[in-house]
Amino acid sequence: MKDDKAALVFKKQPSIQEYLLRAWQRNALVHAYLFSGLEGMGADELADWLAQTLFCQTPTEHGACYTCQNCQRILAREFIDVEWIEPDGATLKVEQIRELKDSTHYSSLEHQKKVYILKHVDKMSVSAANSLLKSLEEPQSNVYFLLLTDNKDNVLPTILSRTQLLSLTPLSKEMLNEMVKDKVTLDTLRAILVELSQDVHKIIELGTSETFQHYHQALWQWCELLFAKDIYAFIFVQTKLMEWLSQKEYALYGLDILSIYFRDALMLKEHQEEHVHLKKLMPNYKKIIFDPEKGLEYLLQAKENVNNFVSAQVCFERLCLEIVRG
Ligand SMILES: [Zn+2]
Repeated sequence: MKDDKAALVFKKQPSIQEYLLRAWQRNALVHAYLFSGLEGMGADELADWLAQTLFCQTPTEHGACYTCQNCQRILAREFIDVEWIEPDGATLKVEQIRELKDSTHYSSLEHQKKVYILKHVDKMSVSAANSLLKSLEEPQSNVYFLLLTDNKDNVLPTILSRTQLLSLTPLSKEMLNEMVKDKVTLDTLRAILVELSQDVHKIIELGTSETFQHYHQALWQWCELLFAKDIYAFIFVQTKLMEWLSQKEYALYGLDILSIYFRDALMLKEHQEEHVHLKKLMPNYKKIIFDPEKGLEYLLQAKENVNNFVSAQVCFERLCLEIVRG
């Protein structure tokens, strides 16, 4: 396995990959699979790998070789017979499916095979789904549909019933940590990000971003002020945190990070040290002078408000007042 990304599939979803590998070896792949799992759990890589395996010029006993021209072009998304279809805007539209159906009627002479990878099939419009159903109902030999979703409950039952569902396994924290530790070298930040996300790429992106590192430091300073019920925490929101809070994503990460600190403080207060995530911070957690359980309630409310488009600054300031005055 020459490629990092390729090697990752084996680590992320070994049992599904093994299952597909056996089906491929026995020539028993079905025409439509539905990969269900959160972003970053490996659905994209699995789809890439299966497509590569199908078109590989020099496959090994593990499927794709990753090095031949076909394998490389598939990974670079430059291979004509492997098509990725993603929602155009908020939904997968019927035109996108029609285009796909038109092109299923010919497969290039060279390969005689075609793989369609549809992302976010839960976001398919009803007309698009109906259009796709016809293709799924009358499968052509050598045309494969790999459907991906991070929200299986919203996939139409008619689609579900015509695909083979493969539910991805959540990655363990240990595995995530192992996968990112060479890139995200700050221990505390890495431990936090592994708690917050299943998405290896996201963890590495945030964990190596200087902006995010500074934000994380500022958040911790703010948290210490909150722990001490220091009213300066209110001014701190404007003077130190504002530059990040304009991004909703950052505001939400901030609240999630605080909830890790608060939960840790609560565990410590309840003498459950074994459940404290960031043991290094235990001396600091001991300084908390408000009820962390109440704090967690305020955080939940703040998160709901940010999600409902209340300004993040307002939410952070309100949270601060609730804690300091509470
Ligand atoms: Zn190959």
